[in-house]
Amino acid sequence: MTTYNQISQFTSQQGVTLVAVSKTKPIQAIQQMYDQGQRVFGENRVQELEEKYLALPKDIQWHLIGHLQKNKVKYIAPFVSMIHSVDSLELLEIINKEAVKADRIISVLLQYYIAKEDTKFGLSEAEGFALLDQLKEKPLTNIKICGVMGMASFSDDKALVRSEFQNLKNIFNQLKNKYFATDDAFKEVSMGMSGDYELAIEEGSTMVRIGSALFGSR
Ligand SMILES: *Cc1c(COP(=O)(O)O)cnc(C)c1O
Repeated sequence: MTTYNQISQFTSQQGVTLVAVSKTKPIQAIQQMYDQGQRVFGENRVQELEEKYLALPKDIQWHLIGHLQKNKVKYIAPFVSMIHSVDSLELLEIINKEAVKADRIISVLLQYYIAKEDTKFGLSEAEGFALLDQLKEKPLTNIKICGVMGMASFSDDKALVRSEFQNLKNIFNQLKNKYFATDDAFKEVSMGMSGDYELAIEEGSTMVRIGSALFGSR
């Protein structure tokens, strides 16, 4: 059985969405996985995402998982399925504006900073609350906040990684109770990559972003 089959069977048995992270990989590699049934792919750069969107079947759901610059939102707004990396109200407002122009509702996740490393983007807990409090005052019509995303430390220390995943799940639960109790769309916890997705699923991930374990190292 191929690695793709193993991982996609495992995630579907667990009820978890598999985002196949295809960054740096060629069109043919994505087409091959598409032919095996995969429909959700993740990219971290806007230009690469756009090129692949144009070249590949239109029923692919493209997720942007990397940092998004405000001036690039317009390029992906017409087709992107979910943006995992929202970390400011300003960015959310720009996504909303471009979604209005494209006559679409764009699904987004709030990215939280959960790792020990200081190289990762994302909101702190306090910033997340502040953002959602401000949003209550002026709701945005064309975005749907579907949950949270985070990246654990790149570490062999399983206890550390596990505690970071628990932290993100706990943030999700707090937001669900405080802001989204009656909103069924707020249900996603995007956590887990090639090295730690099993741990992430044990800790409540609903969406794993797996690249190298599927496509080989970059
Ligand atoms: C590259 C990337 C992944 C996938 O990483 P792998 O270790 O190759 O599975 C997941 N999430 C984000 C945000 C990424 O940039």
